[in-house]
Amino acid sequence: MSETKGVKETKKTSKTVKKTDVEEAVKTVKKTAKAAKENKLAEVMVTADGKKTGAKKTAAKTAVKKAAGETKTEKKTIAKKVVKKSEDKEATKEVKKTAKPKAKTVKKETVKEVKAEEVKAEEVKAEEVKVEETKTEEVYEDLGPRRSIAFIGSECYPFVKTGGLADVMFALPKELAKQNCDVKVILPRYKCIPWEYQEKMEYRGEFYMDLCADGRQFYVGIMEYAADGVVYDFIDNEEFFSAGNPYISMVDDIPKFCLFSKAALSALLYLDWIPDIIHCHDWQAALVPVYLRTLFENTALAGCKSIMTVHNLRFQGIYDIQTIKYWSGLPDYVFNKDALKVNYNDANMLKGGLAYADMITTVSPTYAGEIQTEFYGEGLDAHLRYHSGKLRGIVNGIDCDIWNPATDGRIYENYSVSNAIEKKKANKRALQEELGLNVDDNKFVIGLVSRLTNQKGLDLVNTIVNDMIDGNTQLVVLGTGDPYYEDSFRYYEGAYKGEVCSNIMYDEDRAHRIYAGADAFLVPSLFEPCGLTQLIAMRYGTVPIVRETGGLKDTVEPYNLFEDNGNGFTFDNYDPGLLLDAVNRAKTLYFVYRDSFDAMVKRDMEKDVSWSQSATAYRYLYLELKPE
Ligand code: ADP
Repeated sequence: MSETKGVKETKKTSKTVKKTDVEEAVKTVKKTAKAAKENKLAEVMVTADGKKTGAKKTAAKTAVKKAAGETKTEKKTIAKKVVKKSEDKEATKEVKKTAKPKAKTVKKETVKEVKAEEVKAEEVKAEEVKVEETKTEEVYEDLGPRRSIAFIGSECYPFVKTGGLADVMFALPKELAKQNCDVKVILPRYKCIPWEYQEKMEYRGEFYMDLCADGRQFYVGIMEYAADGVVYDFIDNEEFFSAGNPYISMVDDIPKFCLFSKAALSALLYLDWIPDIIHCHDWQAALVPVYLRTLFENTALAGCKSIMTVHNLRFQGIYDIQTIKYWSGLPDYVFNKDALKVNYNDANMLKGGLAYADMITTVSPTYAGEIQTEFYGEGLDAHLRYHSGKLRGIVNGIDCDIWNPATDGRIYENYSVSNAIEKKKANKRALQEELGLNVDDNKFVIGLVSRLTNQKGLDLVNTIVNDMIDGNTQLVVLGTGDPYYEDSFRYYEGAYKGEVCSNIMYDEDRAHRIYAGADAFLVPSLFEPCGLTQLIAMRYGTVPIVRETGGLKDTVEPYNLFEDNGNGFTFDNYDPGLLLDAVNRAKTLYFVYRDSFDAMVKRDMEKDVSWSQSATAYRYLYLELKPE
């Protein structure tokens, strides 16, 4: 009798929750229906205020599904909600995740209610079965027609990585492949690609290609590798790609990426793989849209649409017109002030790509707005304002398989939301030991993993180190870059032995351990197109302290003392005093209101930082560009 009561009570609570959900759902549906009517769904997701509207759309989707499901059986509702929410294999996990905490609460109450928990577990099992059943019929329900996309860029994890571009080139195609897209990634075959991948590559063919203005011919080989539903084609040419590093100097890099851009298109023709969309990344691939509308305009590729994605506007591929004209073999007319020409005698490869692409995207809605201003525009703000009609911002995600504290083999102790607080302490202790810091649970450990350049706000950090290291705080830096910053962090390590550790190196493994072991994470960038480190930090329950710029602004909700919500601590103007203030606010919460701090740790870990939503936004863009 009382067992049944327990079950009833649980059901009652879930019904109340559902009722509120439905009311909210209906409201959201009404709001978003208007936008949908205007047929601007894809646009809504990615325009300058895309964060809010993107969220609305997802809410609306869930809401529609919730509302629709309410009229059907309860189990079906849950199954549908989960399947549609994640649209992938994570669905079953989701059900477990939401079911577990509920089960825990029940457990605490009475022995009788333990029975209720068992009954609930049975229900959940039944729901899981339903999920499995419904998944196959519904997963592709609203994915739209299949699209084929060629990604062209200069780096891609795990083959070669110098920064966030490599992460995106790996994770986005992988997610798109799950969402009914056929993706081929075209990369240079650098000699520095680890042998474990080189040896698995398959030879797909070779040809000679005209490149320069005088018709010089160059060898192009195609080596192929496939993983996770994505095909990687590597452009082989020893003369250009045999250096130890993908980027050397502009003198070497300009010819190299002229060859790469033209060879990527030629390889598509050679392989007879004509995609719907050619998606180009950063200046190294920026000549692709230009080639497509000039030297390739009478080929099978002429019907392809092109997208130029800017991951960092600072790097543009500028050199004198004569050199770029010679190496690219492009016609004179593209070297005009509306396309490649800048200054008196320079050509800007990115500027050309932006002019010729059918669509421009950048990696966050805020950055899409910022780059149209003089301060952030890197000299191209007027050009971008002119092309603003085809400019969108879509925030990046992270690969949640690689960045997963529950399974990460590189950290000391795995953890999930339920045991994060204890396990993060263990990770902190081990990190302190590994790095020779004073081992103390009570220290507030701040991590910083970054390229050490002035983009990353390191002069602000340098200014406040003396105030920040107050006997209760430790700083762990991992990065390489400008000698000035490398030396200054070495200096602080010497000045604050046991409290500051500067790892002047590139080390993926150590990066994982810092994300897991630190309490807070600094990203005070001068500008930040999207930023991945704050997303990774949140995934590991490490509270970000960021400047409100670019993607940092779009992804880190500032902590609100009065409502006790938010994901991190933020400051607006580029000012060391404001950074110190943000650090101190984080410390206050940590030392004085630990419960609230711990709640934020958990909230951050639960935040969706995956690629799922952003990949969907890209897919909408592909559908919009190439309508059926
Ligand atoms: P950016 O692309 O501007 O360098 P992002 O935040 O987009 O910055 O991406 C940085 C990526 O590089 C993250 O995955 C970060 O963990 C990694 N990273 C940066 N510096 C190092 C380093 N020294 N060692 C290991 N990983 C690093």
